[in-house]
Amino acid sequence: AAKRAGGNRLELFSEQMRITVQERITAEARLRAALDGDRDRTLPVWFQPIVDGATGSIIGAEALVRMCTPQGQILAPGHFIGAAEETGLIVPLGEHVLVSALRHLLAWQNDLGYISVNVSPRQLSEPGFAPMLAGLLARVPHLDPSRLVLEITETAVLATSGDLETRLRAIKALGVRIALDDFGTGYSSLTWLQSVPADVVKLDRSFVAGLATDPRKSSIISAVLWLAQSLGMTAVAEGVEDVDDWQALRAAGCPALQGYYFSRPLPATEFDAMLRRGADLVPA
Ligand code: C2E
Ligand code: MG
Ligand code: MG
Ligand code: MG
Repeated sequence: AAKRAGGNRLELFSEQMRITVQERITAEARLRAALDGDRDRTLPVWFQPIVDGATGSIIGAEALVRMCTPQGQILAPGHFIGAAEETGLIVPLGEHVLVSALRHLLAWQNDLGYISVNVSPRQLSEPGFAPMLAGLLARVPHLDPSRLVLEITETAVLATSGDLETRLRAIKALGVRIALDDFGTGYSSLTWLQSVPADVVKLDRSFVAGLATDPRKSSIISAVLWLAQSLGMTAVAEGVEDVDDWQALRAAGCPALQGYYFSRPLPATEFDAMLRRGADLVPA
């Protein structure tokens, strides 16, 4: 009986594997097709505003890629970034996102301070990354490179081959700023803070959710804000979902905020319309 159970488990396991491999193959094929298509249609870059912590006026935006399938579905990055990283397709995908972000930044430069772009460990480990970025910036000589921010996560430290610090210094030498994304969720946030030449700390939304009613969270937020300021960095809180989150962060003096309370990520045309309305995003 034990043997039979074992046999069943084995079958179950291989069935599971088959589905996972199948899903990966599908994801990879879909991604290749999207990269071969008109990328601005198949892989549109959406933008979520980042607002001034005190006034709610728009100061920047985070670029967040989407995938539009031939069936008309819009997929969030959780459905394809993993496959992109495993296959190396994150390299052309990431370059497309940077190109799109820079083009929009140029168009919006009178109304928008900066655009923040996520960069995965796999991209950073490419020796060609900084030269590629330098090439893109050379095409927009009138744009101040400090208006581009690259967001990296703490896992990049573990995953990136080569000397991350050297690579980041090469990026910073271009004038581009670096943000530590999802700050506080990794294993060694303080080591990370000590060793990485970052300009911005993005407080992970797990510290923000329920902040107003959790004194521990507000203590952590205040301490991280103080730490960031002492190190000459600025801070953005992610995941601000309601008025209570906003008020608690404003009371804590958080310089910049991002979250559904202000706006969801929007297609570029809708983001553009929002900028033109010149609206503060704090509901009256
Ligand atoms: P992230 O960089 O931490 O981006 C923030 C994510 O939180 C976005 O999800 C955003 O839509 C979501 N978000 C914003 N405000 C709120 C809020 O108030 N509440 C909640 N619950 N969520 C909020 P999205 O767009 O699904 O992106 C997920 C992740 O995918 C990003 O996390 C980032 O790590 C990755 N990603 C997105 N675009 C790119 C890209 O172009 N390249 C790379 N390498 N990764 C990307
Ligand atoms: Mg991010
Ligand atoms: Mg984040
Ligand atoms: Mg996150």
